[in-house]
Amino acid sequence: MHRVLHFFLLPSAFFLLLSHFAIAQSRPLVSPSAAPIYQRLLPQISRIKIFDHHAHPGWADDAEVDPAPVPPSALPLRLREENPDWVAAARALFAFPFPDLKGPHGQWLADKKTSLRKSRPGPQYFDALLDQLGIETSVANRITMSGDLDPTRFKWVFYIDPVLFPFDNAGLAARNPDQAAFMPNQTKLLRRFQQQSGPAADLDAYLAFVTRVLEDHRSRGAIAAKFEIAYFRSFVFDDPPRDAAAAIYGKYRTGGVPTPAEYKTFQDFVFRHVVSECGRLHLPVHIHSSAGAGDYFSVAGVNVLNLEPVLRDPRYESTTFVLIHGGYPFEQPAIFMTLRKNVWLDSSATGSFLLYPNEFKDVLRRWFTIAPEKVTYGSDAFPMDDRIGAEELYWFGVHNARTATAAALAEMIAAREITDSQAMAIARGYLHDNAASLYR
Ligand SMILES: [Zn+2]
Repeated sequence: MHRVLHFFLLPSAFFLLLSHFAIAQSRPLVSPSAAPIYQRLLPQISRIKIFDHHAHPGWADDAEVDPAPVPPSALPLRLREENPDWVAAARALFAFPFPDLKGPHGQWLADKKTSLRKSRPGPQYFDALLDQLGIETSVANRITMSGDLDPTRFKWVFYIDPVLFPFDNAGLAARNPDQAAFMPNQTKLLRRFQQQSGPAADLDAYLAFVTRVLEDHRSRGAIAAKFEIAYFRSFVFDDPPRDAAAAIYGKYRTGGVPTPAEYKTFQDFVFRHVVSECGRLHLPVHIHSSAGAGDYFSVAGVNVLNLEPVLRDPRYESTTFVLIHGGYPFEQPAIFMTLRKNVWLDSSATGSFLLYPNEFKDVLRRWFTIAPEKVTYGSDAFPMDDRIGAEELYWFGVHNARTATAAALAEMIAAREITDSQAMAIARGYLHDNAASLYR
């Protein structure tokens, strides 16, 4: 309405505004023969209520959101402040009136959120955000749940990595500045799990403690356990004998710094224990499996092919695995892992802020071509600072996914690979049903 008024009174201002809109929202380029199908599918797909399989809702000052804060490092283009999509998101969600986030413009957004929080206390703020974006349910990856999140809309996934770090972590922290930042939190969170009880007497007692941690979180409402282990070490998990892990536990349980080889052996054994117990307890295992932030993150280590021996191990047949972040840049081998009946893929990060809709369209098309019933939607929305946060990244996620899904499916229909009704079934599965089916 406002803009119409401008059209009559200030035509030049209107065209300025229009040009902002024209450049502001990234979009997929659809092949001409698929363009009418895209136009037909997009509104239908936009009406599907979304299940967000991976997000970190919360505020920038909330220490319970993520236990591994990465020291400042290079960001991909789409997460940089000059990305015009930030403005598009803030405009869509908060009627943000400026063309960029600079100085007082960014402050306007921070102030707007502060005042909205006052008028929408407790869970109302984030409930309203989900409603605005058409999200029915969002996973909340957090150390503990927040009173600001409505438990009927936000489902808790907790971090289980600290059980891999029961020893003196000085040797691990010394490897690089990222590990130096991560290790104290792992130690602190393990102490929280232990609730003042000292170190377990032996490996059997330690494994019983790990199982209690899983059971305790599940009884407090958690729907899955998350490993962000790729930030700490590689996905190469050997299969050490129990005696080797027991000897290392006995040697270091009360002090001393394990060698890297000793620590790896112990972690390999405990990781497998967690995976196995999560199968018994019907607690899906989420694993961060894409490139990550930080100057020292090992991209080679996070290749999902390193996880293949675990994912295809018949001992873990009853464990549900979710490969979080779509494996990017190994997203093609990742989809083949999901041909295993207990392995699923989440598209967060890859589909929300690593790639723009145009490239994500091609990724989705390849995924839908192999195993559409195993691909699930996620945003990886997280708070960045007081101005841009989980809200804008929730918008990135749904904007990317709706446009890229419609474009990928339109091209598949145009190429006569699938029918309209198959396309809509794939869209409903991806955006909601596939993930929701794991938690019924
Ligand atoms: Zn995440």
